[in-house]
Amino acid sequence: MDRPASVEELAALRDEVAQFRLLANNLPAAIAYYDRQGYTCRYANLGYARMFGHTEASILGLGFARIIGEEAAREVLPRIDAVVSDRRRSSYERQLPGPDGRPRWIEVDVLPHLDAAGEVVGAFVLVHDITRHRQAEAALRQSEERLAKFMLASAEGIAFHKDGEITDVNPPLLALTGYALPELLGRQALDFVDPAERERVAAVMASGAEIGYETALTHKSGHRLPVEFIVRTLHYRDERLRMTIVRDLRDRIQARSRIDYLAHHDALTGLPNRSAFIERAQALLAAAQAQGHRPAMLFIDLDNFKRVNDSLGHLAGDTLLRTAARRITGALRSGDLVARFGGDEFVVLLSGDSRGGGVAEVAGKLLAAIGEPLRAGGATISVTPSIGVALFPEHGTDSDELIKHADTAMYQAKSRGRANCCIFEPAMAAAAMADLAMEGRLAQAVREREFVLHYQPQFALADGRLLGAEALIRWAPPGRPQVLPEDFIPLAEARRLMLPIGQWVLAEALCAARRWHDEGRPLPVAVNLSSLEFGAPDFVEQVQAALAAAGLPGRLLELELTERMLMDDLPAVRRTLLRLKALGVGIAVDDFGTGYTSLRHLMELPIDRLKLDRSFVQGLPGDAGAAAIVRAVIQMAQGLGMRTLAEGVETAAQQDWLRAQGCDEMQGEMAAPPMGEEALQAWLRARGA
Ligand code: C2E
Ligand code: MG
Ligand code: MG
Repeated sequence: MDRPASVEELAALRDEVAQFRLLANNLPAAIAYYDRQGYTCRYANLGYARMFGHTEASILGLGFARIIGEEAAREVLPRIDAVVSDRRRSSYERQLPGPDGRPRWIEVDVLPHLDAAGEVVGAFVLVHDITRHRQAEAALRQSEERLAKFMLASAEGIAFHKDGEITDVNPPLLALTGYALPELLGRQALDFVDPAERERVAAVMASGAEIGYETALTHKSGHRLPVEFIVRTLHYRDERLRMTIVRDLRDRIQARSRIDYLAHHDALTGLPNRSAFIERAQALLAAAQAQGHRPAMLFIDLDNFKRVNDSLGHLAGDTLLRTAARRITGALRSGDLVARFGGDEFVVLLSGDSRGGGVAEVAGKLLAAIGEPLRAGGATISVTPSIGVALFPEHGTDSDELIKHADTAMYQAKSRGRANCCIFEPAMAAAAMADLAMEGRLAQAVREREFVLHYQPQFALADGRLLGAEALIRWAPPGRPQVLPEDFIPLAEARRLMLPIGQWVLAEALCAARRWHDEGRPLPVAVNLSSLEFGAPDFVEQVQAALAAAGLPGRLLELELTERMLMDDLPAVRRTLLRLKALGVGIAVDDFGTGYTSLRHLMELPIDRLKLDRSFVQGLPGDAGAAAIVRAVIQMAQGLGMRTLAEGVETAAQQDWLRAQGCDEMQGEMAAPPMGEEALQAWLRARGA
């Protein structure tokens, strides 16, 4: 300076300095100036000074190593030296502990200050806080890493595409589609969509919608691959990317079709179930209506299936049902419908025309096929079906009505002796109605005790001695004619009313025997059993209690079983009979010869007497066949130590013949009919017994 500054000049200069400081201290940057000698600070704005824990004044004159710290100085010194030697600007980034202790990132620009001669005399330092920028970068990097990790870790396929061009996919997607990464990258995503689905997928892509939907891809090997797409749009580094999660739907579709299958099929036989059958039957009937066809509905019920289940076990029952299902299907044509309705019931809808004997032919085939012997539960068994038929449209115009009427016809077939086929007749519906009404009356009869017992005496054939009496039930509804057992017992058994009735019969018969006993005529009473009663788990206890209630010894009671009851589970029947015998109770087999008792059963069971069925006695002595059978039975019984009683002996010729053959006992109208209690008393008195 040539001359000292004037006051004005000084004032102007102060103003200028103040302005410069105002500017420098309000910049969003830290600024400093260092001279070359010893790198001492000659200027620092407020930001720079504070960054290193100083004031604008306290920082001046300090060496740069003292300001930024020895360690940092060692790190950056080579750069400063380079600025000086190369006379070029240098930038670097470094970390700096912030005032709150948290590290901050700064970007440092060092610019050389050159004099007129081009020599470096100092350095301008400009510092920006780039912590926020660094954090954003780190966050981006982390999210990229996370995404990459997620893509790798996800079990589901993930694909990224930009404007339809695949930019990235993860390994599961490669595994799912069968492609290798290079085969997909850069290709159009739509190329890999199942051709039938392309239009729809393209529409979703174009709309940019964020949705999930089911579609399909084409596997590298060419097959269709059902998948679910879940599509999202991502904004990534200023780009709009579409991310598609690709889920394999094969398992889900399989599970769905399995559930669907289970809902429509019977698990045991694999046949359609009732609801599936009815659905299809309706369609088939509608078609038949249009074509003027007359399809037929068949209701098939296996005869005595329960016995197989009870005696051979449920596994054998299952085998039988599966076999029956196979045989039914095998006997039908492909257009026919078949279903299992539960239990041992099958229903068939024959699609063809029922005119011209077609139904009878199929029913015959079914009867033969199902009845074939088979192995189940370690035994060879043969179970016949009973079949009921209802024709469309005369027996019903919808499947419900046809099934109901075929069911009614099936019951008719059963009552005709099983292994039979019956076609529905309107009268059967009336009979079913009558049964229903009778059931109601019978239930009332049980409540009101509208029953009486008659007694039919039994004699020794050799000398005509009175041996006992069989109790025979009659239903005597007030104001109506008496009903014989065969007219109500089958229904009572079917509706389980036979249990209370049987209990009443036993108690009543024992009371009568007690009275005879008290009057000095200890006559045993024979009581008929229904299979329902004999099958009750506490049957023996019931008998024991009834004997105790009547105060009667067991030897004054005989129980009549039918052959059917003996055919069940042999060891169980044997145990029950032995317990009854232990009470002193006698055991007789009723209607012998009409059933299928195996000789083995006869041999192993403790039976006291065989009651030869009336149907054999009827033809005697003229009917050679009956005579041969009766003779054989008598001989067999003698061999087994059992007595024989001939039922329904009506003539002296029968009586004489039987006596001559060695038959032990008889019962029949000729000697004495069944009588009411009073009539019996009179009869006994008249006989002078
Ligand atoms: P069942 O045990 O074989 O009884 C003999 C049947 O033959 C009786 O018929 C009897 O009246 C009849 N009868 C007896 N002598 C003659 C004869 O000389 N000629 C003819 N034609 N018939 C004769 P009912 O009383 O009608 O009984 C029929 C069946 O009903 C019985 O056959 C028996 O199986 C059953 N029943 C009767 N009472 C009961 C009972 O209390 N409980 C059970 N569960 N069943 C019974
Ligand atoms: Mg009897
Ligand atoms: Mg009998």
